[in-house]
Amino acid sequence: RDDTFSSFIAEPAVTLDGASISLMANVEGVQEMEQVKQMHAEGVGLFRTEGIFLRHHGYPPESVQYDAYRAVVEAAGEDPVIIRTLDVGGDKTIGDDNVKDDNSFMGFRAIRFCLGNEAIFATQLRAILRASAHGNAKIMYPMISGMNELRMANRMLESVKQELRDAGEAFDEGIEVGAMVEVPSAAVIIDLLAAETDFLSIGTNDLIQYLIAVDRLNDQVAHLYDPAHPAVLRTLKAIIDGANAANTPISICGEIAGDPIFAGLLLGMGATSLSLTSSLLPEVKYFIRHITKSDAEALVAEVMQLGESTDIVQKLEAFRQKAL
Ligand code: PEP
Ligand code: MG
Repeated sequence: RDDTFSSFIAEPAVTLDGASISLMANVEGVQEMEQVKQMHAEGVGLFRTEGIFLRHHGYPPESVQYDAYRAVVEAAGEDPVIIRTLDVGGDKTIGDDNVKDDNSFMGFRAIRFCLGNEAIFATQLRAILRASAHGNAKIMYPMISGMNELRMANRMLESVKQELRDAGEAFDEGIEVGAMVEVPSAAVIIDLLAAETDFLSIGTNDLIQYLIAVDRLNDQVAHLYDPAHPAVLRTLKAIIDGANAANTPISICGEIAGDPIFAGLLLGMGATSLSLTSSLLPEVKYFIRHITKSDAEALVAEVMQLGESTDIVQKLEAFRQKAL
């Protein structure tokens, strides 16, 4: 029977009617890779690299970063590892005065910081590219808000690749490059973004705070931070539809991917993969294996009609009860 951990964890995340979704892991370093393997995650959908910078209290040299990226890439074997470039600022400070900022969630954060600090960005890109010679690495830019940022980051990547070629350093020439969709402006131009990326991943933690204008760290407005807000669901649906129309794989790597009822909803919307904390993977996989995609699609159609998140949450909970 499919009700004990060991009986299903090695099985694929496939619905009762045969639709599959790839379940990947969010990690911060190689120390988590043993659990990632135990949970049979299909690779790493989000490797947050900030920890390496935090532990180093500053900007780790290329060799330190290379070792950290290579270790994860090698531990993943054939499976993909999506390495996200530095996302500092906002809730992630690294004790650098350049990064301090009163309203840093809307400030000099992530790709903005990297494009403004070319040497730091180039060092990280070199380390990632060199690690890509040892497995299936991919690069993902955080906080992309427009095409100019994506193209600037890609130009930087191309120049770093050329440097490596000139130096005879090995890297994966076919390395895929993607972007996080976590700023509302990126969601609105999803067709443009999807046309120039190999994959996309929705960062709902940030997308929700920016969409509803509610600081994700402020307790006084925490009640407004609502993943089931109709505006959030519409935006998620529009992003997933836009990516699918361009045949660009679309993943979700924010916290909601680890909640079975949202995982079911995202599957119904047409997401190709989910990336989550690996400890939550069994629950999500179990749920996906006990629903049908057609029921999940019907659920999407139903909740998209509703105007209040309390009603939406009720439908989602009822869907969960029915499946279990
Ligand atoms: C997100 O914003 O949803 C995300 C996955 O990135 P982070 O939580 O690291 O900002
Ligand atoms: Mg984010």
